[in-house]
Amino acid sequence: MSEIRSIGILGGGQLGRMLSVAASRLGLRCHIYEPGAAPAGDVAHALTTAPYDDEAALRAFAESVDVITYEFENVPTSALDLLESIRPIRPNRRALAVSQDRLTEKTFLNEIGLATAPFADVPSERDLATAVERIGAPSILKTRRMGYDGKGQVRITDPGQLEWTGAPSVLEGFVDFSAEISVIIARAADGQVAGFDPGLNVHEGGILRTTTVPCGLPGKVTTDAVLIAARIANALDYVGVMGVELFVTPAGLIVNEIAPRVHNSGHWTQAGCAVDQFEQHIRAVAGLPLGDGKRHADVVMENLIGDDMNRVPELLASPRTQIHLYGKGEARPGRKMGHVNRITS
Ligand code: AMP
Repeated sequence: MSEIRSIGILGGGQLGRMLSVAASRLGLRCHIYEPGAAPAGDVAHALTTAPYDDEAALRAFAESVDVITYEFENVPTSALDLLESIRPIRPNRRALAVSQDRLTEKTFLNEIGLATAPFADVPSERDLATAVERIGAPSILKTRRMGYDGKGQVRITDPGQLEWTGAPSVLEGFVDFSAEISVIIARAADGQVAGFDPGLNVHEGGILRTTTVPCGLPGKVTTDAVLIAARIANALDYVGVMGVELFVTPAGLIVNEIAPRVHNSGHWTQAGCAVDQFEQHIRAVAGLPLGDGKRHADVVMENLIGDDMNRVPELLASPRTQIHLYGKGEARPGRKMGHVNRITS
């Protein structure tokens, strides 16, 4: 068994919560660090509520655990520097640096031979016209940092429409995709890799609505998708679970973005696999052998967003339906409150 007994998790949202539950099943304790409300705190051994610039709190947190992981990629660099001087951070800083910045991410992906949407660096508003000339329209202007669920994005439908995001950005050519899929992959410190089956993702208003497995695409496409994810994980010397979002096009697969963490589109693994993405991440981070990623059921995962919470009584009565609620207070529009995994075969 590994020497690791306790895991620090940066971020106290639903992903941290489900990681903490998975860790507890393996006899490990989690300590959550979260500046705001922390649904993960309800199911963890310890919770620190403090901002990311509170050095004393960061230090005490790091000293209380054996290894540190995170449930979101936008942890401030200064906090990471301090934490890493005390305990190892897994996945590593390179994975974070690459995924925190869309320009660095796309450049890295192209360098390792993977296709992305055509893109141009747009450091400031005055560079936008030249970028649109190069990339054309339709295209999407995205802030380099801090964007998620379609936030910080402007669709440019006409070359004359030079709307600015307000921050350094990349301009991406619009990809005419037939489907969006994602692969969740786990990699251990010794290089062992276990991929889950690609899921078919449907978004609404920029937010993931459903993930369906099997994704219904030919075997060659799904194998390529898993190989792409493995190539990224190997290139980053990655330890943990990673989500890779891909566009399916007639010309092949195009990588949209990578998330250096467990991913919403991997929640189906809770009902579809013996070892789900959360346990797989904890195993990797704790230095334990990975489980296999084989799928034993067909699953449709649906997010419960805002008012969807009104459907919970009906969902509770549905057969072959697993319900996960995150224990969040108010069901505001657009807020992810839980998800369901429906076993469809
Ligand atoms: P992102 O925040 O980059 O994941 O983008 C959110 C969603 O916008 C994606 O899931 C796609 O549906 C869509 N999208 C993002 N980038 C592109 C692109 N270059 N071409 C077409 N659709 C895109």
